Amino acid sequence: MKPMILVVEDEPPLQQLLSYNLKAAGFEVAQAYDGEEALQLIDERTPDLVLLDWMLPEISGVELCRRLRRRSDTARVPIIMLTARTEEHDRLRGLETGADDYVTKPFSPVELIARIRAVLRRVRPAFSEQALSFHDLRMDLTAHRVFRNGREVHLSPTEFRLLRYLLENPGRVFNRAQLLDRVWGTDLEIELRTVDATVRRLRRSLNQNGETDLLRTVRAEGYSLDLKHGVASEGMAETG
Ligand code: CA
Repeated sequence: MKPMILVVEDEPPLQQLLSYNLKAAGFEVAQAYDGEEALQLIDERTPDLVLLDWMLPEISGVELCRRLRRRSDTARVPIIMLTARTEEHDRLRGLETGADDYVTKPFSPVELIARIRAVLRRVRPAFSEQALSFHDLRMDLTAHRVFRNGREVHLSPTEFRLLRYLLENPGRVFNRAQLLDRVWGTDLEIELRTVDATVRRLRRSLNQNGETDLLRTVRAEGYSLDLKHGVASEGMAETG
């Protein structure tokens, strides 16, 4: 699945240039022209990385960056800030905004994309590898095969895509609507309970030999790939 980059930039030509280059580089792109719009988009779907302009109307880039760091769902989403001049750049580096990297305009798209890839690799090694693994679970992306503790697990294409998405985002909780959107696709009319049914089947396949359940059900929230089973603060583990 393509990493999704949220571009927050108020100048349409630059917004278009960024989106064009990011899409050409294989990323999925969401566009926001101000902080409010960015927050709305983030409520709908957590991006894999935020490219954030320093100079924005209403909420400034710096303020938005701070807010994203304070929100539990975006605290760990990497942020790259764009600044217009080196003075801003220097000032920004001195501020505690929580950004992962800073890029000064004008920049070459090639350099920016290299920086994005570097940040993603650092925080989400899954994006650069041919295999994904978690605990005793291993997914070979080239051969499309899944192994649990050495035993091959046979999955349907949907179960495979769901597991892949969770493996790419370990520990993150997704609600059913988010999973439907990302695993099944937005244009399909599928009921939310389809997600529950697929999770149930996936769980059965993965735990055939009585292994530890790695799929955590977070009550009233959704699902995550997690070893902290039954840790009470966020929700209860499903038993069935
Ligand atoms: Ca701007």
